[in-house]
Amino acid sequence: MRPNNCQAPELQAPSILDYRPRSTLVAPTHRVPRAKYPVIDFHGHPRDLLGSADALAGLGRSLDSLNIRLMVAANNMSGENLKRTVAAVSASPAMRDRVRVLAGIDFRNVGPGWAEKAVAQLEADVAAGAVGVGEISKSFGLTITRADGTRLRIDDPALDPVWNACARLRLPVFIHTADPQEFWQPIDYTNERWLELALFPGRRYPPERFPAFEQLMTERDNLLRRNPRTTFVIAHMGWHANDLGRLGKLMAELPNVHTEVGAVLYDIARQPRAARDFFVRFQDRILFGKDSFQPEEYPYYWRVFETRDDYFDYYRGYHAFWKLYGIDLPDAVLKKVYYANALRITAGLPQTGWPR
Ligand SMILES: [Zn+2]
Repeated sequence: MRPNNCQAPELQAPSILDYRPRSTLVAPTHRVPRAKYPVIDFHGHPRDLLGSADALAGLGRSLDSLNIRLMVAANNMSGENLKRTVAAVSASPAMRDRVRVLAGIDFRNVGPGWAEKAVAQLEADVAAGAVGVGEISKSFGLTITRADGTRLRIDDPALDPVWNACARLRLPVFIHTADPQEFWQPIDYTNERWLELALFPGRRYPPERFPAFEQLMTERDNLLRRNPRTTFVIAHMGWHANDLGRLGKLMAELPNVHTEVGAVLYDIARQPRAARDFFVRFQDRILFGKDSFQPEEYPYYWRVFETRDDYFDYYRGYHAFWKLYGIDLPDAVLKKVYYANALRITAGLPQTGWPR
């Protein structure tokens, strides 16, 4: 504190909602409306755009404008729902090679007989066209219970037959565990996600009602470690994009683990040098994915990955109170992240016609 210098402001301080300073920084600006190479969105939630020929055509126009060639619908579909969706996609000459679906697993009521049923349903879903499993939702670990009423742990051995089946069928398992760690912290003025937590009560995980963040991470890591033959893609960079050292340690230890960048752009882009190093180091195991389907948001990803722009806005103010920086990935790394890694780990994707 400097005497007579750091006293309380003379003017009334603005609220967190009102303070929107205009940046005076003048710096090169490169908008990237279309990705430099064709993209696979491995974390697609195309809402209701898969159900009819018209809706699919609309989805195709959105994807074209962004240079997304293929969307993997990670909507946890199974049974009739999955068959209906695959049939609608197959019936569209323009879209039949531009959408693939993942199969959902129903983790409710695990108990005697559950695994046999789950594996049989998975095999049926694969026969119907599923190319992987997912998105396993965050409720797995947080809230889903076993038949006996206890919480289903992510590393429950009763699930092993399903993970073995995924290895045998060569299906990547796309799994979302937990949420940003701040959602477990007290909602005080040091919490990075204060505004988001204030806006969305459902994102708070008070300890008396939910397992701890670290408990979920431990269970997830046990799962990944115990099933080395199963290929996992941990969504949202495993919620460790804010701690790339931790994520790097996990991925270095476990070669069956891949990761995906959906909805954590703010963490990648606030550490452009460390993030670039991380992407180069793990260039064979990072997949592009967006999560929520908002076509106008994708270009922020392209700009972060493809440019060295400084200090530009993110698309969602309540996620991050900071600016983004481009990480300027080399072309060879961009191609892997945009499509080549997804193609390699997912045999059921259309494999031809991609840039070499
Ligand atoms: Zn998702």
